[in-house]
Amino acid sequence: MKILKFGGTSVGTSDRFKALVNLVADEESKLVVLSAMAGMTDTLVEIIEFLYQNKKKNATGVINASKKKYYRIIDELYVSDEWKKKATEMVDSHFAYIMSFTFKIFTKLQEKAILAQGELISTALFHYLLNEQKIDSVLISALNFMRIDKDGEPDYFYIRENLERELEKVKGAKFFITQGYICRNVYGEVDNLKRGGSDYTASIIGSVVNAEEVQIWTDINGFRNNDPRYVDNTRVIHELSFDEAAELAYFGAKILHPTSIFPCKEKNIPVRLKNTLNPDDPGTLITDKYSEQGIKAIAAKDGIIVIKIKSTRMLLAYGFLKRVFEIFEIYKTSIDMITTSEVAVSLTVDNPMYLKEIENELRKFGIVEIEKGQSIICVVGDFFAERKGYTLRILNALKEIPIRMISYGGSWYNISVLINTKHKKQALQTLNDHLFNCK
Ligand code: ADP
Ligand code: ASP
Ligand code: MG
Repeated sequence: MKILKFGGTSVGTSDRFKALVNLVADEESKLVVLSAMAGMTDTLVEIIEFLYQNKKKNATGVINASKKKYYRIIDELYVSDEWKKKATEMVDSHFAYIMSFTFKIFTKLQEKAILAQGELISTALFHYLLNEQKIDSVLISALNFMRIDKDGEPDYFYIRENLERELEKVKGAKFFITQGYICRNVYGEVDNLKRGGSDYTASIIGSVVNAEEVQIWTDINGFRNNDPRYVDNTRVIHELSFDEAAELAYFGAKILHPTSIFPCKEKNIPVRLKNTLNPDDPGTLITDKYSEQGIKAIAAKDGIIVIKIKSTRMLLAYGFLKRVFEIFEIYKTSIDMITTSEVAVSLTVDNPMYLKEIENELRKFGIVEIEKGQSIICVVGDFFAERKGYTLRILNALKEIPIRMISYGGSWYNISVLINTKHKKQALQTLNDHLFNCK
């Protein structure tokens, strides 16, 4: 079985929905994972923000405008009145559910239930379209099998058992559809795999069913060597290793959810990145093989916070770092970069949730300084043979930009530097020019 994930743009308009039918309507056994229509999750976030601010009128306005968009799509999508009516009723029921929150006190838990509506609607619209065209498919609700544990990690055992049961319910079926992104938490409540999480859904499913391949279909011809949103003259990388792709995704390459490579890497399942707007393009293949050496790609992760602990007394005494790390463990906050000196330790986190608590605890060790608004620039490639002087080339390229931290040697395929986000675009472009375009 192949797992095919289609992102927001792949289901962004009625034409894209129709094109999708042509892409998937063959005899191969497959499970299609769909995102919400492009922009829908952002709209749901906007509604949630209005609800938190008790601006019910604004929330209602956005809800009604969004519902109208779906009506137009329904009109363009289906031929028969029968399916137009069914789809309209389905959309109405989802929006009535969202609307019901404008009459209630709003809580964090309900927020997740609202965020799930985009994927629930897009999968139903697609399933109805296949039905109208007499193409057999089975819609499985991700809420029946996708679950995270108390630490927010996928509960693989539960997912395998429940997905297998769902698949077996329909013997002989070859074409399944499910929602990306959404899941239940350990208490059975509706939750999600964080923004961009449909990629993660696809790879988790790929891993539990031992898929032949996981395909991530999006709006670009595969993985590029730099972020095309900020940099001119990027090019597609046709082959990447799991480690390289995981590193780039974790450090900000938006084309893949940060942790979406891991499940496929564990099971050695190839991941193929394809463009729905240009399906004949070969895209990028991610496997366990390392292809050509050299510097492969650059990515940037924003929203980074540096925490510096200065202490003359006990710094670097044995056991000190352990006690520092324990604080981050207690507050479930992971550390991305770390550098040490005789008198100070600097480390970075991207999760501000418990920042105040962490700061208070760290004060016991010395002076704590916190700086927000930083970005990690991650250069991925083969740094094994450092004699090639790649590090020098990277630092040379960045000579005009103030560097806050450098991380080298953590792995042989990553060098990361921390800079202020205001220098990010310039840093990405100058690295591109110096490392790939031979300036
Ligand atoms: P989807 O909605 O299909 O999940 P995303 O917007 O999440 O699509 O991801 C695709 C986008 O990722 C591209 O349009 C591109 O702007 C952005 N992107 C960032 N870095 C890269 C990269 N290195 N290679 C390709 N695309 C990238
Ligand atoms: N719809 C969700 C989002 O916009 C999940 C995804 O698209 O992967 O973040
Ligand atoms: Mg995405």
